[in-house]
Amino acid sequence: MTAAIDLWLRPFALDERLHLHAAQVIASLPHEVRDDLMGDPAFVMCDYQPGPGVVFHVPVRFPAPRGGPGRAVVLKRTLCSRHDNFVRWVIAHELAHAHLRNAGRWPGDDPERAADALAEGWGFPRPRN
Ligand SMILES: [Zn+2]
Repeated sequence: MTAAIDLWLRPFALDERLHLHAAQVIASLPHEVRDDLMGDPAFVMCDYQPGPGVVFHVPVRFPAPRGGPGRAVVLKRTLCSRHDNFVRWVIAHELAHAHLRNAGRWPGDDPERAADALAEGWGFPRPRN
């Protein structure tokens, strides 16, 4: 599975450190969540270096299987300076948003709380600092 994940992630051309963290998080996902993301040809991940005046265009693939723009997870490369557990929690949290299509788990559920709950369930609890 790890080789398949690595192969799937490569075209996104993430910073090598983020690539390795993302591969580890994706390998830890429940298979139905991993299949949802890896099986979506319109899903993209990308990273960028934030800075003054930096404008970053998120690559979005059309059309998504359900119509409209595809799902995208965007990571700042500055994330790499943080602790491993923090980096993996951010990636898991963002993948949870993608899986939930930025919604909650049920009507009225807070999307942020939902993303944290999924990430924690996958083994990536929100770090305390
Ligand atoms: Zn969030």
